[in-house]
Amino acid sequence: MEKIGFIGLGVMGKPMAMNLLKAGYSLCVHDVVLGPVKEVVAAGATEGKSAKDVGEKAELVITVLPTSVEVKEVYLGDKGVLAGLKEGGLIIDMSTIEPMVSQHIAGIAGKKQIEMLDAPVSGGQAGAMAGTLSIMVGGKEGIFKETKKIFEAMGQNIFYCGPIGSGEVVKIANNLVLAINMQAACEGMILGVKAGVKPQVLLDVMTKSSAQNWALSTYMPNKAFKGDFEPGFMVDLMYKDLGLAQNLSGAYNVPILLGAQCHQVFEQARARGIGKKDFSAILTLLEELTGVKARL
Ligand code: NAD
Repeated sequence: MEKIGFIGLGVMGKPMAMNLLKAGYSLCVHDVVLGPVKEVVAAGATEGKSAKDVGEKAELVITVLPTSVEVKEVYLGDKGVLAGLKEGGLIIDMSTIEPMVSQHIAGIAGKKQIEMLDAPVSGGQAGAMAGTLSIMVGGKEGIFKETKKIFEAMGQNIFYCGPIGSGEVVKIANNLVLAINMQAACEGMILGVKAGVKPQVLLDVMTKSSAQNWALSTYMPNKAFKGDFEPGFMVDLMYKDLGLAQNLSGAYNVPILLGAQCHQVFEQARARGIGKKDFSAILTLLEELTGVKARL
């Protein structure tokens, strides 16, 4: 399948689409915002006027959208992908959403003889641009094997996780740990700075010691510790992912105490008006409270 439809050209989707073009795939793209559509069309894609139009022109459709709400609308709406895609087609949703929504859409698609994979990603904007994302895939294993080459054009570590929805479950668990690590990185740094130690010293020691983790060692030094709060990965999106974790926790009766508390930290950030900033901007909440800054 080489005719790929691609919907959602935001922070993640645009570079992922660009990498598919570079790998030689022919793309028909759509987004409600026209700027990124023009950029990807200038790089060789064609434009789809709606999700349905993309479905009509493609054999396989990939989506990278913010939440379950947009994913449902884009696949199931009157002008949605499933209204246009032919029997025998494939849909791959790479957004981070409710696993039950992936299962629901797959069920409806299945009635039209259309297969579905859920394939959320990790690695951030930098990973999307470099084509080094981790991609966690749920759905039929045979379909996964047939499409692995497409994932390899966008990512480096491609994992098969189990039946439809399993990719989302893994992604939600991953981001639960990431959010908690981010909060821990902020607390450790601000505590040290307020007590009189330079941020660079704290970072040098902790990244070589047992506090080491991706948020602290890799992400923060390139974002919040440099004073860069532009997304990246928005506070609103991490808030959404912690909500997904809470929903899973309720569905399976698994207490996630740190996750529930961390969800409220991101709630606090949204109340503070920084929902559209990078998720590392939760650092500024502590900076405002303590009057010190953790800048390299
Ligand atoms: P984004 O908001 O930058 O991009 C989403 C895009 O979808 C936007 O361009 C928006 O215009 C478009 N869109 C929204 N509704 C639409 C509709 N009805 N039809 C067509 N296009 C529509 O978000 P993002 O950061 O690219 O994240 C996308 C998904 O990937 C989210 O689920 C997020 O949780 C996940 N994710 C993001 C990152 C990251 O670092 N940004 C990392 C891993 C996973």
